Amino acid sequence: MELTVALCSDTEDNPPNYLPGWSNKGSNYDKNPAIIMWDWTRHWQDLSEYFHELEIPITWLIRVDDGPVYDRMLRLFRNDILGLESSGDEIGIHIHTFSWDSVYSKWKQTRDPVCEARIVRRSLEYFKDVLGFYPLSVRMGWNAMSNAIMETLDSGGILVDASAIPGNNCRGKFGGRDNFCDWRGAPQEPYHPNNQDYKSPGGMRILEAPITTLNTRGRKLGGLVDLLSNYRIIHMLAKLSPLTRRTITPNFFLYISPWWSASIIDKIVDMSLKKAEEEGKAFLVGFFHSSDILDPKKDCENSFFKGNLNRFIKTVTKLKGFDVKFSTLSSLKTGVKQSGASEV
Ligand SMILES: [Zn+2]
Repeated sequence: MELTVALCSDTEDNPPNYLPGWSNKGSNYDKNPAIIMWDWTRHWQDLSEYFHELEIPITWLIRVDDGPVYDRMLRLFRNDILGLESSGDEIGIHIHTFSWDSVYSKWKQTRDPVCEARIVRRSLEYFKDVLGFYPLSVRMGWNAMSNAIMETLDSGGILVDASAIPGNNCRGKFGGRDNFCDWRGAPQEPYHPNNQDYKSPGGMRILEAPITTLNTRGRKLGGLVDLLSNYRIIHMLAKLSPLTRRTITPNFFLYISPWWSASIIDKIVDMSLKKAEEEGKAFLVGFFHSSDILDPKKDCENSFFKGNLNRFIKTVTKLKGFDVKFSTLSSLKTGVKQSGASEV
């Protein structure tokens, strides 16, 4: 029985200062040009060494957009990024579809398909111009997706997208400025999307590898996290003590974070094991934010983050009777092919 595990990181600036807890250390997206903060990157090497010691390849999805960050992260950390690539990690891309709203003086997630396609195209070019190669994998910022985005990623040579969180639907958080996504009805297993509907299987070359998601109960929990993140009560969320937040499990998908309880992870692993037992193989696709290595209040490394990472990795690696393989995102497609088995 084969269990393939792919962990990827949304690798970007400090979270925006409108997110709970980040009012002091967060990037300011209410200015043009934005004020981008990189404090967490002090701990980047420590984080990457942690994974290297465990011999777990990570897919670092580097933030690129057409504003407010542009190609700044690629240029600032070019040598570090290329170093990670040569050590066996994968370098993919993480694109936010922000555009400047001059009426509200805020960077906001656009929902205009023409604008989305242009941002994705430009981001892929920025990536190639700085690093010298095109990315093979992607996770869109805030799980955003549309037919226009999927089409542009596919024609841009992306092999694997991991933006899907099946069942997840959000009409905008943080005052409606971002986190618009609709993954209701998307399959929970990897699939090639339909070019008329990114949520249905079809004939596109790109592989959608959804973040591993629990089935039913989670949808209510997803509603809770939406509620907690709503602008009107965002202050309440920020005031919840870290201890309280660590006993709440709002996410129903494989997201490793220091801010919420990791208790759901065992259930997600159990679900995948059952599937591997029934079908001979299963995938676990999970993500985290590298910036979570920084505790924004104490300005030091956040030990709860590695605690939760450890918990997941230990759970998976000590499984008996399973052939557990850690994979980069694009290897979910190419690796399977290379090993002689049929392509996903
Ligand atoms: Zn992001």
